[in-house]
Amino acid sequence: MRIAVLSDIHANLNALDAVLRAVGEVDAFWHLGDVVGYGPEPNRVVDRLREIGAVGVRGNHDVAALGGNEIDDFNQDARAAMIWTRERLEPRALEWLSALPEKLVNGEFTLAHGSPRDPVWEYLMTRRAAKESFSAFETPYCFVGHTHVPVVFMELDGEVEMLAAEPGTELALGEERAIVNPGSVGQPRDGEPEASCVVLEIGATTTITWHRVPYDVEATQAAMASEGLPPRLVSRLTWGY
Ligand code: ZN
Repeated sequence: MRIAVLSDIHANLNALDAVLRAVGEVDAFWHLGDVVGYGPEPNRVVDRLREIGAVGVRGNHDVAALGGNEIDDFNQDARAAMIWTRERLEPRALEWLSALPEKLVNGEFTLAHGSPRDPVWEYLMTRRAAKESFSAFETPYCFVGHTHVPVVFMELDGEVEMLAAEPGTELALGEERAIVNPGSVGQPRDGEPEASCVVLEIGATTTITWHRVPYDVEATQAAMASEGLPPRLVSRLTWGY
């Protein structure tokens, strides 16, 4: 079984479609929230995820898009983009977003946007935060997004190791529990502009491979500029930060 795991698409349809082309045939798509916010194509990204039958969870931007007061914690640019997003989301997209749960268990994997402990908001950036999260889910493995940085935390003899996930990294899952971040499709923040995702292969051995996918960044930026979205959100896509 081959599954593509996508996170933080952020209404960037060019990036999403490039990823879908790059991963090719898969048996399922899982997503980790922040489907909308920042980017210029919220309705079409939701439509695409519906078409491919993606299952997943809600992120803080999705909750804000549904009218949640999460928007009060956004910085000025994120807030401006969210107000723009709210004004444009069509009923069918709102309906799809509102059906997303905070957490989801698929076989041996728990899915959450931020962390299994605080699914919508917590950022898992450190070993210490990850250590406390291992007791907050019951499956062997967990997928999270939210930081937009590809990484894996592994539990080894009660300690937590943090491993950077370079493009092409292949991780064989074994007895050690793991929390895996595939990075962001629509707004990478690890200094690389290419869309980030993972492919999970479940078989005799279970492996996770990180992929980076170039996409037409300038086309997304042009769409954002023509919609009057904040310039800093436009320029950051060039650098991936
Ligand atoms: Zn995000």
